[in-house]
Amino acid sequence: MPDIVEIPAIWLQGSACTGCAVSLLNSFTPGASSLVLNELVPGRHISLRFIVTVMAGQGRQVVDVLKDTAARDKGGYVLVVEGSLPVGDPLFGTMGEENGREVPIAEHAVRLARNALAVVAMGTCAAFGGIPAGAPNPTEALSARDLLAREGVSVPVINIPGCPPHPDWLVGRPWPRRSTNWRARRCSTASAFTRRARAARISTRGDSQGSSATPGASMNSAARGP
Ligand code: SF4
Repeated sequence: MPDIVEIPAIWLQGSACTGCAVSLLNSFTPGASSLVLNELVPGRHISLRFIVTVMAGQGRQVVDVLKDTAARDKGGYVLVVEGSLPVGDPLFGTMGEENGREVPIAEHAVRLARNALAVVAMGTCAAFGGIPAGAPNPTEALSARDLLAREGVSVPVINIPGCPPHPDWLVGRPWPRRSTNWRARRCSTASAFTRRARAARISTRGDSQGSSATPGASMNSAARGP
């Protein structure tokens, strides 16, 4: 019997309505339970370790899951971002505390993205800012790509816009194998996604605020910063 490759995944929610998460849970084939319990495709199992909308755990224990995954599975996990990420004030959208300081969700996203195999920006809000980033954008909400560019994080960012996106646009992707050579793997993963996006002739970009009724995927693997 062939080995089953387990791919850790973290689903982080910023300025979101949770519609993207609910859309994922409406996945038909595979169904929601199969998404986390069975193989997504033969030989690939997603270990969805963190998704606030449905997980039972709370408090420090679940926030520690984020740290543990970033440390133990460095370069081998996928970070899925739902919603845009507010940076206008440290108190806009926080999750957990460190030394008495509330930690902004944008800070969690940057930390996790630094060690991720790839980042999936799920939904128009995460991909392009969406409704939370609409003028006058009082929380200064950014898309995942813009936040990571601002922070100099070099990681492939796969945009899957839609409000919400169809679950197949995520679960139908070629989930990668984990690799110890994570930088090389990130590049090949980016290429695989890009090839599929081009082959399917699906939208690769939306406008910065627009809802995207068209399934889309775009990739940003440009290196930034040192
Ligand atoms: S993209 Fe749409 S469904 Fe997803 S979080 Fe934003 S508003 Fe909600």
